[in-house]
Amino acid sequence: MLFRGKMKSALLLIAIIILSACVPSEEVKEATAGNINKNAPYIWTNTQTFPVDLKYSDSFSDQEILNIKAMGAEWTIAVEEKKIFFDHTETQEKSSPTLNLDSLGDDGIFAIYKLKPWPKDLPGSALAVTQLFGRRHNIGSSNEFVRIEHADILINDNYHFFNTDTEGGEYDFKTVILHEMGHFLGLLHKTGDSIMIDSIVPGINKRSPTQIDAHDIAKKFNISLSTVLPMSRVASSAAKKTESVPLATDAGSSVRIIMELRADGECVHKENGTETQRHFLR
Ligand SMILES: [Zn+2]
Repeated sequence: MLFRGKMKSALLLIAIIILSACVPSEEVKEATAGNINKNAPYIWTNTQTFPVDLKYSDSFSDQEILNIKAMGAEWTIAVEEKKIFFDHTETQEKSSPTLNLDSLGDDGIFAIYKLKPWPKDLPGSALAVTQLFGRRHNIGSSNEFVRIEHADILINDNYHFFNTDTEGGEYDFKTVILHEMGHFLGLLHKTGDSIMIDSIVPGINKRSPTQIDAHDIAKKFNISLSTVLPMSRVASSAAKKTESVPLATDAGSSVRIIMELRADGECVHKENGTETQRHFLR
């Protein structure tokens, strides 16, 4: 609680603290790491059925669970209810002391974990992390892409999130969940009118995907929407080209991708628990 008190005082003194999220860090278990295209799309393997059963830690409050479900539904509403992405049937008991980040890719359980203590492998300034496992194909070609095979969302319970507008708190839980779900589905960061922007400030809320987000996710899942993006919005969208599913021309390289939503603006990348990069984004 002392930590939270100090945290809050600091936030009050500073007019605006930029929250930054890392650019995705890729770990490629081959000598090709320097050649990867960091903007290559992430696309779920076509053997994955949706909705995925996204479980949640049993330590989430009833209100938090309601908010998780509501944000899952927002992604479905965004695509005119033509696809249900998330189902939530039960809790998942795995907690911080037993959580092994590396092994999450193999457990077959999709989950949103609420963690305290926060895993030592991850920076304490991360509000939330989405971890993707998969294979990077066609490295070096124009068809390079990452086939997602597994994903989990980790929420850092050392931060003070607010779940209702009357509750008070620093970070809007729904905003963070909606953003991380976007990563879960394969969205990268982008600028402009998007829930996937790489920085947010305390107290703000963005609780629905924007029109741009809706079209990005529809494109990714091959859903045709009845609405058309106005040209002005297309121009501001970083992903203008269509995202047809590329053909893998190779076996691909294993990747574990961590996308962090951080509270201090610093970005640290780790691969297999070893720090490989450290920088400030803004
Ligand atoms: Zn992010």
